[in-house]
Amino acid sequence: MSDSESPVVKRLPVHEAMSQFPVVNGELAVGGQPLSLLAARVGQTPFYAYDRGLLRERVAQLRAALPKSVKLHYAMKANPMPAVVGLMAGLVDGIDVASAGELKVALDAGADPAEISFAGPGKRDAELRQSVAAGVLVNVESARELPVLAAAQAELGRQARVALRVNPDFELKGSGMKMGGGPKQFGVDVEVVPEVLAQMGALGLAFEGFHLFAGSQNLKAESICEAQQKSYELALRLAAHAPSPVRFLNLGGGFGIPYFPGETRLDLAPISANLAQLAERLKTDLPEASIVIELGRYLVGEAGVYVTRIVDKKVSRGQVYLVSDGGLNHHLSASGNFGQVLRKNYPVTIGNKAASAEREQASVVGPLCTPLDLLADKMDLPRAEIGDLAVVFQSGAYGASASPQAFLGHAPVVEVLV
Ligand SMILES: *Cc1c(COP(=O)(O)O)cnc(C)c1O
Repeated sequence: MSDSESPVVKRLPVHEAMSQFPVVNGELAVGGQPLSLLAARVGQTPFYAYDRGLLRERVAQLRAALPKSVKLHYAMKANPMPAVVGLMAGLVDGIDVASAGELKVALDAGADPAEISFAGPGKRDAELRQSVAAGVLVNVESARELPVLAAAQAELGRQARVALRVNPDFELKGSGMKMGGGPKQFGVDVEVVPEVLAQMGALGLAFEGFHLFAGSQNLKAESICEAQQKSYELALRLAAHAPSPVRFLNLGGGFGIPYFPGETRLDLAPISANLAQLAERLKTDLPEASIVIELGRYLVGEAGVYVTRIVDKKVSRGQVYLVSDGGLNHHLSASGNFGQVLRKNYPVTIGNKAASAEREQASVVGPLCTPLDLLADKMDLPRAEIGDLAVVFQSGAYGASASPQAFLGHAPVVEVLV
């Protein structure tokens, strides 16, 4: 039998995080396409490729795990590629945007304005006015936003839909990035919430609910449960001051994905059980409300790869360097310069030789004139040559849009949804 009749499908054992992409005839496959063929169809390296099937699968798994009444939102800052947002808009219950630019992408993608919410500090007056015109929900993060929203609703003859983002008096433990608790630029301190709610009522804004977002990239289910529990209790206390019935409690998200050796996948079972218990309580506590969770990274992070071509192979004092045509300019996160304290390697392989038994220790670096431009530091990789394709896994979130693409003037990265 020839190879084309019977492809040998292997799952990579090297890192748990790699196993979502099959290896077919020795080559990594993304969206069912062998990597070298995909590179040819894209027409250039470097590129990001996002796997449609994996995106659908992830949402389906979550839906199956979570209580039916819990609404699932996609926080599109994790991956704002228009085609990805379009796909996600059809799979989730709402899209969370963080700027007028993201709002445009979400609306263009066909997301229902009734199910779009806009959070973020420093919303410009024009952005608030655009939100009212579009009929999307604004997560108010500062009392300053209120008169601007009131003016827009008077001018446009359309009630402004608002929720209040609360800066709670607790933190999300074990979180990669904390976005609540203590002094923060996000949300309104819990102490002044009653006052701001009264203002919302007095100005005639349409109050719909509370938004609490404690942090990001958390792999500890107990910490997420604890934050959701505390958020629920807090929202319940605050609801007593609401100018109208609470329609939803957005309990945030923060679900993390494994990047580094030793990290394990988030256990959804306790989170699901916790949410089920909260959803049950909600029926009597706030009968008109539903629970919302908003996720970015968890929905899209594992479905994407970053692909570069090796343009040079050098040995410097015994250390092998694979110099590739892209690096931190396209993928700041993988270089370790986006929120990491101690740099660790993302999972990396040589995609067109993924199953090769011939291996060597090598560092994958980008083409920039800075030692920060490092994608893999002394990793055990399939032995690579010039022309091979270096692949960074776990690259579907905080990739292209979170990187300084203009730095050193290389061509921008291409993104494809396969
Ligand atoms: C960034 C952000 C998210 C998404 O966070 P992930 O860690 O990618 O899930 C959700 N909500 C708000 C308010 C955010 O700022």
